[in-house]
Parts: sequence; C-alpha cells; structure tokens
Amino acid sequence: MRTIKDINSIQEISEYFRTVGKKIGFVPTMGSLHEGHVSLILRARDECDILIVSIFVNPTQFLPDEDFNQYPRDFLRDYHICKSSGVDYIFFPDATDIYPEDYSTYVNVEGISEKLEGKFRPGHFIGVTTIVLKLFNLTKPHFSYFGQKDAQQALIIKKMIKDLNIDTEIKICETYREKNGLAMSSRNEYLSRDEKIEAGILYKMLCKGKKLILEEKIKDADSVKKILFEMMKENSKNIKLQYLEITDSENLNEIKDLFVYRGGILISLAGFIGKTRLIDNVLFYKDL
Ligand code: AMP
Repeated sequence: MRTIKDINSIQEISEYFRTVGKKIGFVPTMGSLHEGHVSLILRARDECDILIVSIFVNPTQFLPDEDFNQYPRDFLRDYHICKSSGVDYIFFPDATDIYPEDYSTYVNVEGISEKLEGKFRPGHFIGVTTIVLKLFNLTKPHFSYFGQKDAQQALIIKKMIKDLNIDTEIKICETYREKNGLAMSSRNEYLSRDEKIEAGILYKMLCKGKKLILEEKIKDADSVKKILFEMMKENSKNIKLQYLEITDSENLNEIKDLFVYRGGILISLAGFIGKTRLIDNVLFYKDL
C-alpha cells in the first residue's frame, strides 16, 4: 500500500490504471475510520482491481460553528486499518493543494441539497459535492462507494453524476451499526458510554416508524411522527431532535398521506446529544 499526498501523482496513477484496463474502486472518507468505513472498503476490494481510499477532512463542508477543528484525526491508525483491509493507495492530500489561495469553483446540486440536512447546514452539500467531484477527477474511479448512513449525500452525488455526466458508478452500502443500533460514525468518538447507550433509541424509532407504516398501516405521516416523538420522550432525556422527516426517497419531498403513497420511503432524523450531532435513516418500499 502506498500513501500519495501529491494531487498530480494520484491523477497519473489513476490514469495509468484506467489505460491498462484495471477497474478502479474509490472510497472517499474523512478518516477516523471505523467498521462502517471498513465495510465500504471491503466491498470495493471485492469488486475492483485497484482500490483507492481518500482521507481528507474537507473544510468547505463544515459550517463556521461546526467541529472542523475538533474532528477526530488519527492518520497512523487509519493507515493500519487501510493496510489490513487490502487498500492499494491512500490519497491523503493537504488542504492547501486541494483549495489553493485563488480557489473559486463550487458545485451545487439545486433542490435536494436544500432539504433535510440542507435546512440546518446551509452550504454543507456545496462543500460535499465540490470535494467529491474534485476527488473523482483525481482518482478517476470506475466505482465509487458511499454509505446509506448519509442517505441525502448519496442521493445528491448520484444526481451530480447524472447531471454532469461523470464517468463513475455509485454503489451505496448499508449502514453499519453498533449492537444497540447506533449508526457507526467518526463523531461517536465524542460520546460518553452513557450517551452511546441513550443514542440507541434513534434507530429503534426509525424501525418503529417503518413498522407503523408497513405493518400497522398508519395512514398519515403526522400520526407516525407523533408516536415516534412520544417514544423518544419516554426513552431519552438528553437527545434534542432537529428534525424527523418522512419523505419520498427519490426527491426528498415530504409525504403526508401514507395511504395513497407508493414507492420508496426515507425516514430520516438528526439530533444532538450533548454537543454531538447524529444523523440516521431507514429506507424501505411501500407498494400496497
Ligand atoms: P465520512 O468519513 O464520515 O465522510 O464517511 C465516508 C463514507 O463512509 C461516506 O460515504 C459515509 O456515508 C460512509 N459511512 C459512514 N458511516 C457509515 C456507517 N456506519 N455505515 C456505512 N457507511 C458509513
């Protein structure tokens, strides 16, 4: 495994492997790797000839009051995880090379970027799509792996690829969880043991929401939400929900009438426990 910092070198390496007909798999990350990241890496390892993992804490996707400076960073640990997972190249650029002083180009996927997370983190997805497009241009992947944990991000990147005719195929991997259901996240490092236990309620709420819709056939979304809010109140003192939405999984439009709705449903939420912001979601299909 090699670590590449230089942006021209990674582009030359990727170009070479494309030319000789090797399939390049790419897993973009912000490091502080956990089993969720590893599940993406192992799938990519299985499906591709050359596997590139990027580690870059992208400043443009953090809002000024967010945790960019505190975000956990441990390159040595990440290096060993990548090595033992069969990664060929770690791309570990410096921010000054990615965003030189005169940098001025940003990508915006209009519409879906303003929903859900976008309402609470305005501009966040512009940072995400911009860095992801830059990383695609540098690593030239045939296949790119993203987590369902960040459902809206995955949707936005798929849309960007379609709209801008980018030559890569997106593979979405299911959310890897702790035993109590808490979605794995680098930010879980901020949580105390008790907070981790308490945060397990979030996934239980999402599963309950799915059950209320598919099995108990509750007809209106507001009633589902009300039951889930009650469930949270009963089980958690410290979580403050920012949103809990029931939306069409393709366009993220709110679903009100569950009785008539057919298609993919995404129940997603974000909330704070202490100062730590957590997100999670479930995606399922309703036909009848
Ligand atoms: P991050 O380092 O948080 O930017 O995440 C890098 C990639 O890993 C993104 O595509 C995430 O959606 C994905 N990811 C993060 N956490 C998980 C998880 N618990 N299960 C599966 N994928 C994840």
